[in-house]
Amino acid sequence: MYPIVPLFAKFCHLQCHTLQTFNYSEQLQRLFGYSTFRANQEEIVQAILAGRDVFAVMPTGGGKSLCYQLPASLMKGTCLVVSPLISLMKDQVDAANAFGMKAGLLNSTLSSSEQHEVLARLQDGVYDLLYLSPERLALPGFLERMRRAPLSFVAVDEAHCISEWGHDFRPDYLALSSLRQALPGVVLTAFTATATKRVEEDIVRRLALNKPLMTRASFDRPNLFYQVQLREQVNSQIEAVVAAHPDEAGIVYRLSRADVEKTATWLRDRGVKALPYHAGLDSQTRSRNQEAFNRDEVQVVVATVAFGMGIDKSNVRFVIHGDLPKNMESYYQETGRAGRDGEPALCLLLYGRGDYFRLRKFIDQLAGEEERQAGLAQLARMMDFAEQPVCRRRAVLHYFEEEYVPENCGACDICKHGVESIDATTEAQMVMSAIYRTDQRFGAGHIVDIVYGAKTARIIALAHDQLKTYGVGRDRGKRFWRQLVEAMLGEGLLKSEGEPFPLLHITAMGEEVLFGREKYITRRMLEAKAGAADTNAAEISYDGSLFAILRQLRREMADREGVPPYVLFSDKSLHQMCIYFPQTPEALLVINGVGQMKLERYGKPFLEAIALYLSDNPEISPQQMVQGRELPKAPRQVRKSVGTETLAETLRLAKAGLNVEAIAAQRELKSSTIAAHLGELLQQGHSLDIDQFVDREVRNAMTELFRSHGLFRLRPIVEAMEGRAGYDEAHIVRGFLVFQGWKLEAEEGPVSSGLSTN
Ligand code: ADP
Ligand code: ZN
Repeated sequence: MYPIVPLFAKFCHLQCHTLQTFNYSEQLQRLFGYSTFRANQEEIVQAILAGRDVFAVMPTGGGKSLCYQLPASLMKGTCLVVSPLISLMKDQVDAANAFGMKAGLLNSTLSSSEQHEVLARLQDGVYDLLYLSPERLALPGFLERMRRAPLSFVAVDEAHCISEWGHDFRPDYLALSSLRQALPGVVLTAFTATATKRVEEDIVRRLALNKPLMTRASFDRPNLFYQVQLREQVNSQIEAVVAAHPDEAGIVYRLSRADVEKTATWLRDRGVKALPYHAGLDSQTRSRNQEAFNRDEVQVVVATVAFGMGIDKSNVRFVIHGDLPKNMESYYQETGRAGRDGEPALCLLLYGRGDYFRLRKFIDQLAGEEERQAGLAQLARMMDFAEQPVCRRRAVLHYFEEEYVPENCGACDICKHGVESIDATTEAQMVMSAIYRTDQRFGAGHIVDIVYGAKTARIIALAHDQLKTYGVGRDRGKRFWRQLVEAMLGEGLLKSEGEPFPLLHITAMGEEVLFGREKYITRRMLEAKAGAADTNAAEISYDGSLFAILRQLRREMADREGVPPYVLFSDKSLHQMCIYFPQTPEALLVINGVGQMKLERYGKPFLEAIALYLSDNPEISPQQMVQGRELPKAPRQVRKSVGTETLAETLRLAKAGLNVEAIAAQRELKSSTIAAHLGELLQQGHSLDIDQFVDREVRNAMTELFRSHGLFRLRPIVEAMEGRAGYDEAHIVRGFLVFQGWKLEAEEGPVSSGLSTN
C-alpha cells in the first residue's frame, strides 16, 4: 500500500509554514483566481486534505470539480478522476491545464504506446489529476497496478451512475465497487448533481465509503430566470428569444427528432447559426455538432434529450424547452445546463396541453404497471409546474424537498409580473355555453373558434356560426380564449378526454359556474405578454463593445490552442474585464477566474486589448478601473452597457434597411451608439449590407488604413482620414473586416502590425 501524505504541499514557494495551517485559500486565489469558496466547497476541500472520504451532492454549476482539483493540486501523488464520458475528458483536462494544473487522461482514444507513456508518467508522479473511464478500472490487472502508483485520492464524478435507482445507471460503474478493496487506505470521494435518498445510500454502500463527510448543497440556481409560456407559434417564440440574445449560446430542447430538424432549419433560414443534435444522427455528426457548439462556432444547438451529460460549456445563456419535459428531474437537469459560470441565464418552457398526451404515449409503453404509474405521477407534477401560478423557483426546489423561504424570488415570471386574480365568470360561461350547445363533442380549438367567431370551413360546414354563442368573444382576441380554456382545464372546470382527438367536457365544478351558482376567479396570467421572453432580472451592465472585442480575441486564441473558448476565460471573467477595465497584471488578477497561470499564459493580449480600447474611448472615466487588490462591491459608475436587447433592436432596424441616422432617430440614441452597435453586430457575424451605412469610397480608404495599422486602434485610422470620416464609420468598417475573416490579433491574417506597436 502506498503511504499517503495528504498535507504535503506541492507549491512550496507558497510558504506553507506548517503543514497543518497550509493556506488552501491562497491556493484558491493563486491557481483558480477565485476569492471565495462557493457553498460546501471549503468543507469538502478540508475533509479531503484531512484524509476523509466524501460524498457530495451539488447542483450542476455548483463547482464540483474545484472540490477535488484544489486538494489534488496540494497533495503528493495523483488524484484519479473517474468520469463517465470519454468525449468530455479532453475538455476537462484542457480546462485543468489552463489553470496550471498537471492533468492527463487515460482512455481508449489513446494508442497503446501513448497509454504506456501515461502510465509511466503516473508512476513518476507527474500528474495532479488523471482522468479515466470506469471501463478502464474494470480492465484485468488495472487496479492491481494502481495499488503501486503514487495516488493522492480517488474522485468519482457523476457518482449516481453507480445506482440502479438513478436515472443514468451505467453498468460500467459497478466496477467501482471493488475500489475500496483494491486500494485500501486510499481516500474515496464521490460527487453527483442528482441523488435521492435512496440513490445516496446506494452510492455510499457500493463504494464502501468510510464515515464520509456527507454534504448536500442547495439546488437553488439564483442566476437562472425561470419562465413558462403557452406554446403558440413555437418556432417564432424560440426565434424571438434567440434574437434577444445575439451571439449568445443557447440550447433548444424538442421532444421529437423531426421537430429538432424543423426548428433547426427554421432558425438557420433566418440567419441563426444553429445545428441539430439527436440520436438519429450518426455519432460523427453528433460529436462534430457538439464540438462546434462548445467552441462558440454555432450559437444554438437544437436537440432532443440525447444532448445531455456531455455539455461542459459554462457560457450557455439560455435553455428553451419547446415541449414539456417528461418530469421535473429532467426539466431541472436540462435547464441546469444554462449559466454554469454563475452569470444570468434564461430558462424558458413552452408547453401546450397536447404535450400531456404525447408524453403519455411514451409512458403507456413502459413495461411494468408500477413504472407506468410512477411515470404518470411524474408527468402530472410536471404539468402542474407549468400551469400553477406559484413561484417557479419555489416549485422546483420543493420538488427536491427543499424549502424556499423568500416571498419573492425576483427571477421567475410569476414573481416578476405577479399574478392577478381575475373574475372571469362571464367569460367562462361563454366558453361552457359553446361546449354545451355543441353537445360536448368538440375539442378546444374548435370551441375557441366558435367563441371568437372564426370563419373556418368546419364552422361553416357544421353551421356553428348560427349558434348563439358564435362570436360573442370577438373583442378579446383568440389568444385570450385559448389561455382561458387552458386555465379552466387546469383548475378543473373542464376536462379534456378521448384520444387521439380529446374533447372538452364540463365538470360538476364547471356546471356550478355555468349556472351562476359559483363565481370563477382565476389566478392565471391571462394577459401575459406574447412573444419575446423576459431577460434575467439581474441584468449585468458591462461595456458591450469591449466585450465583443475580447470575445473575438478569446475565440482566436482558443482556436490556436485547440481548446474551447470558455477554457481560457469564462464569460464572467470577460464581463468583469468590461466593467473594471484592468490595465495592469495585478488588476487583472483581481478579476474572477484569473489565476497566476492564466495571467501568465493569456493575460498580455487581453491587457493590451483593454488598453487600446481605453485609448480609443477617452470618455471612460478612470475611477471605475480596478487598481488595487479588491474589486469594489458594485461598480459605481458603469458606462451605459450595450445590453443584448438594445443590440437586437438595432439589428432589426438595420435589417429593415434603415441607415445609421434613421436608426438613431427612431431609437432616440446617438448615432455614435448605433455605429458601435453595427460594428459589434458585424463582428458577431451578423450579415448586414455595409453599403447601407458607409460610403464605398470611405470604406475602401479605411480598409487600406486598417491593413497597415491593424484593427485594434481606431484613432490612427480616423486621424489619417483627415475629416473625411469619423469614428462611426471606423467602427462599422472594422466590424465588417472582422466579419470578412480579418483577425483582431496582429500576427495573423492580413493585418501586419497592430498590437505590438503600443
Ligand atoms: P459542476 O461540475 O458542479 O457543474 P463546475 O466545476 O464545472 O461545476 O463549475 C462551474 C463553474 O463555476 C466553473 O466555471 C467554475 O470555474 C466556477 N467556479 C467553481 N468554483 C468557484 C468559486 N469558488 N468561485 C467562482 N467560480 C467558481
Ligand atoms: Zn419566483
